[in-house]
Amino acid sequence: VVIPSKTLANGVNMPYLGLGVYKMTDKEEAIQAMSKALVMGYRAIDTAALYYNEEEVGEAISSSGIPREDIFVTTKVWNTDQGYDQTLRAFETSLKKLGLEYIDLYLTHWPVEGKFVETYRAIERLYEEKLIRVPGVSNHHIHHLQMLFAEANTKPMVNQVELHPYLSQEHLRAFCTENNIAVTAWSPLGRGGILQDETIMKIARDVGKSTAQVILRWHYQQDIISIPKSVTPSRIEENAQVFDFELSTEQMAELDKLNRNQRFGQNPDSFKFDF
Ligand code: NAD
Repeated sequence: VVIPSKTLANGVNMPYLGLGVYKMTDKEEAIQAMSKALVMGYRAIDTAALYYNEEEVGEAISSSGIPREDIFVTTKVWNTDQGYDQTLRAFETSLKKLGLEYIDLYLTHWPVEGKFVETYRAIERLYEEKLIRVPGVSNHHIHHLQMLFAEANTKPMVNQVELHPYLSQEHLRAFCTENNIAVTAWSPLGRGGILQDETIMKIARDVGKSTAQVILRWHYQQDIISIPKSVTPSRIEENAQVFDFELSTEQMAELDKLNRNQRFGQNPDSFKFDF
């Protein structure tokens, strides 16, 4: 499968689809899933310090034989490491664990109150020092982004947020588009919780695809990057096969109507450190 890329604000290309690796903590299982994805044609992996598998990401990349520059690696600074100096240190740790010389995209994982602006300023510095190719954030609402705009020289180029047909984030997406910030959808499949939706199942039957494929295609047709997670080889493959069919305007509209502002994860405004 050839996965198309989106050109970000600074001209760097980021694949529209990557492998999410949250909760892949079993070393063997993680390396197998990542390796399978790379063989299949995935060229992006979304990890985080919190996922405790940056070493496995590094191993899967080096054993794949694919040139480093052809792979887009995202990682994130965890909440307890935020602040300017702490972020610089956390970055060093991630880099070492990944065994890489640079990271493609580095994100503030959540906007920790009183800290996220300084965290982003450190990310900007890493960008200026060319240790990362793209500066970005995750779980930032419009009001968080506006605070960054007031303090930073470079706007974040990616905002990674929960986004699927039950939480379509239209307002935030429009704001990001106006500001040249690419949107990445985490839990694009609603953690698997929307795969039995009747409307999605009907559209899937009509186009001869799975519900997961219909949802990921819905993201792509709206210019949204997605990072579905699976450790099952057949699903890893299935999730990437979404560039060979098209949803009609009517089908897209039906999917748009499913929005109910339902989160499967936390709301950035009421984030609790409960794990
Ligand atoms: P997801 O929406 O990708 O759903 C994953 C689950 O759906 C899998 O565990 C599997 O059970 C099921 N699934 C996947 N493909 C399937 C298929 N083809 N058919 C049937 N079932 C299938 O949810 P997620 O793992 O929460 O999110 C994906 C990635 O997003 C994570 O791995 C992580 O990289 C990222 N993420 C980021 C944040 C953040 O705060 N930035 C938060 C959560 C997740």
